[in-house]
Amino acid sequence: MLTRLFRMHGLLVASHPWEVIVGTVTLTVCMMSMNMFTGNNQVCGWNFDCPKSEEQILSSDIIILTITRCIAIVYIYFQFQNLRQLGSKYILGIAGLFTIFSSFVFSTVVIHFLDKELTGLNEALPFFLLLIDLSKACALAKFALSSSSQDEVRDNIARGMAVLGPTFTLDALVECLVIGVGTMSGVRQLEIMCCFGCMSVLANYFVFMTFFPACVSLVLELSRESQEGHPIWQLSHFSGVIEEDNKPNPVTQRVKMIMSLGLVMVHAHSRWIAEPLSANSTVGFSQVGIELNEFSPRRIEPEKPLWQFYLTRMITMDIEQVICLALALLLAVKYIFFEQEVESTLSLKNPITMSAPSLTQRQPTESCHRQVPPAPRCLEKPPSIAALTLVKKEKDEVIRPLSSSATDSQAMSMFVVGNEEEELKAESLQLSLPPQPRSLDQCVAILNNPELGPRSLTDTEVMLLVNSKHIPKYKLETMMERPERGVAIRRQMLSSKLPSPSALSTLPYTDYDYSKVMGTCCENVIGYMPVPVGVAGPLHLDGKQFQVPMATTEGCLVASTNRGCRAIALGGGASSRILADSMTRGPVVRMPSACQAAEVKEWLESMDGFQSVKEAFDNTSRFARLQKLLVGMAGRNLYIRFHSKTGDAMGMNMISKGTEQALSRLQQYFPELQVVAVSGNYCTDKKPAAINWIEGRGKSAVCEATIPAKVVREVLKTTTEALVDVNINKNLIGSAMAGSIGGFNAHAANLVAAIYIACGQDPAQTVGSSNCITIMEATGPTQEDLYISCTMPSIELGTVGGGTNLPPQQACLQMLGVLGASQECPGENARQLARVVCATVLAGELSLMAALAAGHLVKSHMTHNRSKVNLQEIAGTCNRKAS
Ligand code: NAP
Repeated sequence: MLTRLFRMHGLLVASHPWEVIVGTVTLTVCMMSMNMFTGNNQVCGWNFDCPKSEEQILSSDIIILTITRCIAIVYIYFQFQNLRQLGSKYILGIAGLFTIFSSFVFSTVVIHFLDKELTGLNEALPFFLLLIDLSKACALAKFALSSSSQDEVRDNIARGMAVLGPTFTLDALVECLVIGVGTMSGVRQLEIMCCFGCMSVLANYFVFMTFFPACVSLVLELSRESQEGHPIWQLSHFSGVIEEDNKPNPVTQRVKMIMSLGLVMVHAHSRWIAEPLSANSTVGFSQVGIELNEFSPRRIEPEKPLWQFYLTRMITMDIEQVICLALALLLAVKYIFFEQEVESTLSLKNPITMSAPSLTQRQPTESCHRQVPPAPRCLEKPPSIAALTLVKKEKDEVIRPLSSSATDSQAMSMFVVGNEEEELKAESLQLSLPPQPRSLDQCVAILNNPELGPRSLTDTEVMLLVNSKHIPKYKLETMMERPERGVAIRRQMLSSKLPSPSALSTLPYTDYDYSKVMGTCCENVIGYMPVPVGVAGPLHLDGKQFQVPMATTEGCLVASTNRGCRAIALGGGASSRILADSMTRGPVVRMPSACQAAEVKEWLESMDGFQSVKEAFDNTSRFARLQKLLVGMAGRNLYIRFHSKTGDAMGMNMISKGTEQALSRLQQYFPELQVVAVSGNYCTDKKPAAINWIEGRGKSAVCEATIPAKVVREVLKTTTEALVDVNINKNLIGSAMAGSIGGFNAHAANLVAAIYIACGQDPAQTVGSSNCITIMEATGPTQEDLYISCTMPSIELGTVGGGTNLPPQQACLQMLGVLGASQECPGENARQLARVVCATVLAGELSLMAALAAGHLVKSHMTHNRSKVNLQEIAGTCNRKAS
């Protein structure tokens, strides 16, 4: 109800700014000149001597007054300095206007109530400035400036008034009542000061509710829109955040209400009940004025004409006035000239800053969606290198081009801070880009000019070049001055083709080292996919302990693995061995006849043939070493499975390269041999195949552990007998019934995939890498302990190459102490990782099998793996939208 009232008031004021401004100014001027109409035009302490002026002013009073004035000036200076952080000239201007007009209203009130007592005003103004709080005014201004079009201004002011009005009213009431207590103190000076305090609060409140919103509305309506139709203040990325920030705390509000009720009672008691009893001891609010009025002023220099008298008074200044003026001037100069360089503004006249993208995840615009950095500040004009360096020093941010929003095709990159001189130069150039796209010929010339290049083109111009095929779309990140800009432009171009233009808004793309991706890991990049990473451990394996990173979205998985790790640890740890280490590639070649193909097979299986091929193969890498050839025949087709060590690399690229050379050597001996494909699916990579299960691929590993009966009971909540029974009937007989190849396990793929994603492995190789047979047996003197083993013949992984080059993935490899190439023995890191994978699978098998044996599986998944979001509701909404 109250909110609606304030909203209506805000709308009224914002819709009729002229009327409100003229009304408030007229009222203030009327108040000022009220006594003029009554014929009293004498100003105490200025051209007339009054009783108070004749009072002896102590030097200590002057010192205190001067200090107060100086503090007031410094306080105002800091308020404005804080406002500058917001980066909007509009906010600065509006705050200035608010301060000046409220001071004017306050002075008017003081002069009127104290009957033109200028010495009083002299003391009162610094006091007023110390009480002034620009934050509320600026919050209201931000509401107005958050409008993305002129039409929204009024609505947003009304919205701001609805949010801020009740709080500000309550605050003003509480402040008045608190300060008002001072007017009953009986100490004359304190009473006068408290009167000033109350007047300050009232003047502030009056201006905030009337003149100020009207002025904001008027100023913004008078501001021209930019050519592109954007309001030139453009703080729209603040919208939403502002409302959240300014929402009053209900507890504080309640405390304030109770406080003000109490204070009203105090005032009522002392003014209307206790006053008749002690009328002489208390000086009320109005009494101050009345007392001060009891004098008859006399002209100070009756001979001098008034204008001459005023001029002399203005020129001749006291020492304290000189101090205050000097301080004010000093701070003003510092503010205007020395802080100007680091100033940035969101009051955008430069098109570069026109399309400031949303910095919050709330906005469904194409923008930054990771952890939000401090709001970057746009630059109004091309800054000097020194200026940018200054900004760098101030904010210590990393250069980040915030590329245009999806909603704005005119957008251009804007820069925040530069790191190096080269980048700063680039930014200066970028900042001086034209608002309108140049012609295609001009753009091509700029692109081909090594002095200028893509950094001198706007995003719109780059898109023009992409559409006209002057820049291949897939090369965007390599051709731009920074890969991230290329990614941002690709996203913009893509967004318009998607069913929902804001579809990419929550797919992050900033703050990513694309240099590690380009040409290695991914093409046509539009961002990166964050996946939650959990940790299971410690995993006790071969006398060491490992904390295993697992990237997954399956609730329960990490927790379950953790339980398995605990059971292994309590059982004394697991042991593992690497049985074989060789990656495979199986090309298909063809001979004119099956008999000729058989000859080739024979030659390959001979010592000479193998040595010859091996020589060619081994020459291609420092690590690839051909171990054996397995040759299969189908008619005149030959399938040659090359087995090779690959060091710490998973090795598919490495071995493909070697295979190609080996086949060339083979063709030298058998010119009629035709290479059908370098991969003939005999490898077999990323497809289920018995050959990997039987022959092995990559690392073949085995891991075992014995879990004491007590641990089986207390940690796994089941018995050895039940586990063995489930294992035989599920993992062995069940998989046989299903015709499984290598799938004699409960969920090895779960662990393999989670570790692979975390550690930068090729996730598609989960297919072969999850081949596993889990065996469980009862052991120990009473046959109540559990013996478990996992045998995995084809773990395809590496610690160098592919995704292991990416920093987050490297962090996970580092957790396991297997990052990069092994210094002691090439291949040792990869083998260690394979052992960890096998042992983690064992932990996962233990826990899941236990859950199955105990009948807990469904229950724990319902608790930990079911989304709490009401999917039905979402589905309903979707259906409604669709229909
Ligand atoms: P790679 O990055 O292509 O090759 C490894 C590189 O690391 C080689 O240049 C190697 O040197 C060097 N290296 C340095 N120290 C090493 C060490 N200690 N051990 C081994 N190599 C070391 O990696 P890759 O494992 O061969 O290939 C992995 C990539 O292939 C992944 O991105 C994967 O997704 C992809 N892949 C490719 C295929 C395919 O058919 N080509 C199939 C599946 C996956 P040298 O130059 O001396 O060998």
